Amino acid sequence: MKNLYVVVAMLLGFLAVSCGTSPEAQKNQWNSNKKRLTRLQAEYPNFKTALAAVLTDAEAKWTSAEGVSGEEAQIEAMQGANSAASPQFVKDLDGLNKKMEDLKDLMTDVQQHVADYGDAAAARVAASEANNTLATVEGGIRTASASDANSANAITKGWTSKLESASKRLKKVQETAQKKKDDKKAADDKAKADDDKKAAADEEAKKPIKCAGCGTMNEAGSLKCSGCTAPLD
Ligand SMILES: [Zn+2]
Repeated sequence: MKNLYVVVAMLLGFLAVSCGTSPEAQKNQWNSNKKRLTRLQAEYPNFKTALAAVLTDAEAKWTSAEGVSGEEAQIEAMQGANSAASPQFVKDLDGLNKKMEDLKDLMTDVQQHVADYGDAAAARVAASEANNTLATVEGGIRTASASDANSANAITKGWTSKLESASKRLKKVQETAQKKKDDKKAADDKAKADDDKKAAADEEAKKPIKCAGCGTMNEAGSLKCSGCTAPLD
């Protein structure tokens, strides 16, 4: 029983750290947020101003948090700095490449199997829409002008929602095709089972009938026994 308490205490301790409720965990979070902001500035030059402003603001909050006394109050201040370092557009930019890669994979998959789809036209339309969405976002990355966090948030929100709906459309095509496939397989399986059943019944009907009275074997289909004329069933 005592061991159980130890395990529970250790688990709670682990959770506390992983949820970021210690200054050390906040510090780790902060370092990774700072790295991310720096990396994204290089990766998305058109967002550099907005990203730099976020970093400056968050750094001021972090510096002041480091001077806060009392662990609980300090953790709260550190959390404030970390959340200031990760506004929505920063998270969106961070996940953008993955979203675009996933959409490309999905699009390629649908394009490669277009002939397998019951509605090949719908598959082509969804793939072409995905292609346009990718071109729009790629073009946007090159030309966007995000002067501050608000405009940056609006821009990446638009991209994210476009990428998500293009991906949804492609998945819908895949699901519809899969359902058609499943339905066809179910129908084929049923037809096969019916055939087997019929074959078994035919086989049964061909069997000779033994007369219960005299034991004579009669041809399949006989109504009366050829030995004793008793009716056969
Ligand atoms: Zn008989």
